[in-house]
Amino acid sequence: MSLHVKEVREVHGVGAQKAVELASMGIFTVMDLLEYVPYRYEDYTVRELASVKDGERITVQGVIVGEPVLQRFSGKTRLSCRVMVDQFLLNAVWFNRHFLKDRLRPQQEIVLTGKWDGKRRQLSVSDSEFPGQAASKTGTVQPVYSIAGTLTQKWMRKVIQQALAQYSDEVEEVLPESLTGRYGFMPRGKALAVIHTPSGVEEGKQARRRMVYEELFLFQLKLQAYRAVTRSRSDGVKQQVDLPAVRAFVRALPFQLTESQKKVVAEILHDMQEPYCMNRLLQGDVGAGKTVVAAIALFATVKAGLQGALMVPTEILAEQHKKSLDRLYEPYGLQVALLTGSSTDRQRRDLLASLQMGLIDVIVGTHALIQEDVYFRQLGLVVTDEQHRFGVNQRSILRRKGMNPDVLTMTATPIPRTLAITAFGDMDVSTIKELPKGRKPIKTYSVHHSMLERVLSFIDREVSAGRQAYVICPLIEESEKLDVQNAIDVHIQLQQHFPSMSIGLLHGRMSAQEKEAVMQAFKEGLVKTLVSTTVIEVGVDVPNATLMVVYDADRFGLSQLHQLRGRVGRGEHQSYCVLIADPKTEVGKERMKAMTDTSDGFEIARRDLELRGPGDFFGTKQSGVPDFRIADMMVDFEVMEQARDDAAELVSASSFWTGAEYTQLRAYLQRTQVFDNEVLD
Ligand code: ADP
Ligand code: MG
Repeated sequence: MSLHVKEVREVHGVGAQKAVELASMGIFTVMDLLEYVPYRYEDYTVRELASVKDGERITVQGVIVGEPVLQRFSGKTRLSCRVMVDQFLLNAVWFNRHFLKDRLRPQQEIVLTGKWDGKRRQLSVSDSEFPGQAASKTGTVQPVYSIAGTLTQKWMRKVIQQALAQYSDEVEEVLPESLTGRYGFMPRGKALAVIHTPSGVEEGKQARRRMVYEELFLFQLKLQAYRAVTRSRSDGVKQQVDLPAVRAFVRALPFQLTESQKKVVAEILHDMQEPYCMNRLLQGDVGAGKTVVAAIALFATVKAGLQGALMVPTEILAEQHKKSLDRLYEPYGLQVALLTGSSTDRQRRDLLASLQMGLIDVIVGTHALIQEDVYFRQLGLVVTDEQHRFGVNQRSILRRKGMNPDVLTMTATPIPRTLAITAFGDMDVSTIKELPKGRKPIKTYSVHHSMLERVLSFIDREVSAGRQAYVICPLIEESEKLDVQNAIDVHIQLQQHFPSMSIGLLHGRMSAQEKEAVMQAFKEGLVKTLVSTTVIEVGVDVPNATLMVVYDADRFGLSQLHQLRGRVGRGEHQSYCVLIADPKTEVGKERMKAMTDTSDGFEIARRDLELRGPGDFFGTKQSGVPDFRIADMMVDFEVMEQARDDAAELVSASSFWTGAEYTQLRAYLQRTQVFDNEVLD
């Protein structure tokens, strides 16, 4: 039986009770246990005292030269004894180990591990052994595991050693020889044995390197295999794109596409005309003009006689996109419909019927769009937002309905490469690299709360000049209720401060109609200042708004601030972003500096990653990055890049899909169900 399914209770020493505790740590099978790698090592190699720095942990060997002295104080004991080590006389001290007293005899050899205090020539002993003692740690490197519940390090070590003794011979190699050879990796069974019992810290690291590579390589293999298989299939829609019609549509736009936009449009149209399913990521900074690219692609689909769907995260955005598509498509007679959570049952029924009959060309909505009861006559293209990544599940829902549309995923967050290949490695990527010409860079200031009065007069100045302002309220992590309260409070304060100004309020607890009404009033310029929670974050487009004020800006992620800032600077007027924050820490100050230094989203993402680490980078909402068991993305990002290149190279070779040396890897792909139980061919 494979160690991947053999229960951990099969290991001698693991009873029912312990098995439950192991399960709570994610360890169910023998392989889970073997793969439970230590997060650090304790080195018991005997060293010379002369080489030790003050405060360092060390293991030394010496001879007891004095009688032990035991002191008791307030329930504790202190045992001390003089020991001669390498010609030095030192004082060894044990706390609460009084039972050792009778065993410490002059002339006896002893191995001591502890923290060295050079000034007092004293070693605070954490471990001591007599040479020749059974189960000696002396000279070894001991693994330290992260443990929970009643488990102890000692038990964990013992049980893992037991598992190795019982099963390490059965550990099968996963990596193909071409890769173990290329990197000089030790075989898998040996690597696991070594990682738990290295002969030295360096050997432990080597074993870890192998296991990290393996983990990241297998992860990338799934993505790359998925990508390769998707591309090799011919069961997508080969769209008959009417290029002259698309060109005419583009020419009629109120502006010229940027070179970058033209390039990504070409990439997308190319995929659409191929028989495979497009699975493409469209990335570009805020305001780079992704929406119009999506509109062109959807137009092309409709002209090819198919239907399109545009999925967005919020109802406000859905409404906004519906309106702009209506405007763009009106001269061509395309039918655009809106389906959201607040459509009435009746509207919904009618709409679904029209959709099924093919009376609707493009449907815009929240993720409800791909639900089980929504049928299209023939769906050609789905454009979606990264927050609702179009996953394998959604694809298979559509497949079951006999549809296999092209999919374009737009991301509003520029992502550094390592994270991009981690979160979106299964996709082809198109990037809009430049902003439309003539954009004035947004001037960004970071100010302290004490300057609130001046910020308010800034709002007044912009509004008096005919412009509009956003005011984003403090964010309380995980508490929508408090966010809402903050917005209500700030709204009241501003109304008191500007009794004659029309000030709107927007937050997540309002009904869709209320939100829409406020947004509409803001768009039409009736509302001058809009106080909002972060519901405004993505995609909203009001070119006359020139001022973005963010309260407690240090509570927001940098990418989120960049998104918020992207709500202004969309028109001809100079725009401003004012971040109100009193950062207390150096990192906090660095973050505000990053915002005022640059308006390049990729640069901000890079700094954000540096300051926060990848775990936090995506936040909870957009976790495309898995929790790796062994790898640490902060340390191992270069391995990720290497693993990705290796995996891509491997799956592009036909030998991978047939060769005997890759049977294990193909079985792995089958087992992990990247293909949703579909048989690989
Ligand atoms: P994104 O979705 O990438 O943040 P949008 O698609 O909302 O950006 O575009 C931002 C604004 O720029 C919109 O008002 C849009 O009409 C305008 N725009 C898009 N492309 C161009 C272009 N090539 N030239 C001028 N304006 C453009
Ligand atoms: Mg947009």
